[in-house]
Amino acid sequence: MKTRIILFTLTLLMSFSFAPVASAQRREVHALWAHPTEAGKSAESVRALVAKCKRANIDVIVMDIKGSNGELYWKSKKFPQAIAKGYENFDMLAHLVREAHAAGIRVDAWLVDNLEGANGAAFREHPEWAQLNPDGETTLSEKLGKTRQYPYVWMCPARRPGYVDQWLVPLFEEIAANYQVDSVHHDYVRFPGDIGPDSYCFCDYCLKNIPRYAMLRYETRPDERYRVGTAQPRIEANWWSDPTMMPAEWDQMDRREKANFLLNGRTIPGGPPDLRHFFYDYRAHQIEILVRQVTEHVKKANPNVQVSAAVFKNPILSGRYLGQHWDQWTDWIDVYMPMTYRSHFAGSFDAYLDHLAEITARQMEWIGHKRPVYAGIASTYLFREEMQPFDEMRDRIADLRGLPPIDTMPSQVGAIVVDPDVERQKAALNTKRADLARAIGAAFETMSKRLSAVAPDREREIRSFVKVNIADNGRAATNESLDRLAKAVNDLRLDLPPGFLPPEKLVRAIEAARKANPDGIAIFAAGSLDREKLWPALETAFKR
Ligand SMILES: [Zn+2]
Repeated sequence: MKTRIILFTLTLLMSFSFAPVASAQRREVHALWAHPTEAGKSAESVRALVAKCKRANIDVIVMDIKGSNGELYWKSKKFPQAIAKGYENFDMLAHLVREAHAAGIRVDAWLVDNLEGANGAAFREHPEWAQLNPDGETTLSEKLGKTRQYPYVWMCPARRPGYVDQWLVPLFEEIAANYQVDSVHHDYVRFPGDIGPDSYCFCDYCLKNIPRYAMLRYETRPDERYRVGTAQPRIEANWWSDPTMMPAEWDQMDRREKANFLLNGRTIPGGPPDLRHFFYDYRAHQIEILVRQVTEHVKKANPNVQVSAAVFKNPILSGRYLGQHWDQWTDWIDVYMPMTYRSHFAGSFDAYLDHLAEITARQMEWIGHKRPVYAGIASTYLFREEMQPFDEMRDRIADLRGLPPIDTMPSQVGAIVVDPDVERQKAALNTKRADLARAIGAAFETMSKRLSAVAPDREREIRSFVKVNIADNGRAATNESLDRLAKAVNDLRLDLPPGFLPPEKLVRAIEAARKANPDGIAIFAAGSLDREKLWPALETAFKR
């Protein structure tokens, strides 16, 4: 009997001693980025979004509350002039927090940090806070692709007083103080990289402070010049001998000359053109200060609020190109959500799956496993192959519509004079027209089988529009018939029939990320899941 009790006690002890091991097993966190559109403008629409998330076992809703145009989706008391149209009387964030918490879901308040629109309140009131390139222009002067005007203004994160301390930090502070959010969330916490990665920022403040940051000259006795020492045979090995790095004429140089020196100058006269190292370092340092300040102010306003961040996939490359050296922010960031989207990878879908697993593991390594990493997957870009025909059709339809009408070029004056140049141009146009018609037809054929399997009526409808436009080598197409086709293709894209996109791609991407054993998976985004009809696939992948 006694032995039995001892045995029983032992078993009990053992089970207790094993219990913490079992409970220490991490539960994968499921996060989802979402936009105000999906939350809508009523208590019911917010509740519906939360219910959808609940069904898919989402633990964290990361809701955009400061958009790319600087517009705010909460009832800001500090900056009422920045509140988004239609949200003046509906406090979306307050509703979301209440509904989500009632469902056991956390809310991250997502702010687009350094981006404002051309009509954003911050830029309107303080144009002097914008980043400038060597020509003294803001990012509004840049192009996307070859022709598209860049619509956003990047604000200088360095300038003080300026955008960060006078606008952005107070916004974060207000959220932490007034809303029961679980976390705030950084996005665009960097310099621009898709446009002019080495062009910003050369505002007056930065021109003064890039050299000052690296102390490339003394403020005392600024006119004394020191020549580089020659104690060591390799010229750059004498860097410590205190040479004067800034040119004597610095103060007389214009913005372009100064920028050129900071990017292409030499730290050591006669050495390699390495001065841009300090430009990169300065930028990374400024973003790090921003991150630190936001965290300090947020935690002071409410110590229970965490700070998470959406970051580029590779902190070493983004450190150089964006000033986003996020592996160095572990003191300030509680959760990382790297945007390891397929759009940032060149290879096939299968190659992406391998690279996703590899880089997710590396991301955890880069931050020394000090903070949780949620692997960020964007559903849309998984379907590059399926969506490519849509882009192709849209672009070729636009090209065809842009050609001059068939009969506007008279090759005949009177009855007999034929202009051979005009005839040649006409022939070239006809060839072009025929090529475009063929391309439209071919693009449609690559999607038609998939489409007819899930929505035969829509396939037939679009096929009939295609047929009209490509008939007679494209010569039968009119502006109206092309517009009808373009609209049908676009409508299809915005509301894809269920099953058109293979849902297993989303499931396979999530499984690939899991190979790295990340702390969570973050999906971009609720709106895309709606359009792509992928909620059921997510429910399957996130089943517990
Ligand atoms: Zn600047």
